[in-house]
Amino acid sequence: MIDSKLYLVGIRKDTGEYEEDADACQLCKKMIINAGIKEVIIKNKDGYKIIQVEDWVKNDDLLDGKITY
Ligand SMILES: [Zn+2]
Repeated sequence: MIDSKLYLVGIRKDTGEYEEDADACQLCKKMIINAGIKEVIIKNKDGYKIIQVEDWVKNDDLLDGKITY
């Protein structure tokens, strides 16, 4: 999986619509980092956002004390 892309979609169970700001949780981020994935493409309600996984390594939420789940 080195340098691969992962596509992520968040769909709300209650409405069946795309999540407005879908994102990977901290546990999934760690697994994505450890898998060697390079980019995560996230489908949101209004389009797509492309995450460089390297940015998750440089800006670790846990180091800032943020808990996302
Ligand atoms: Zn997760």
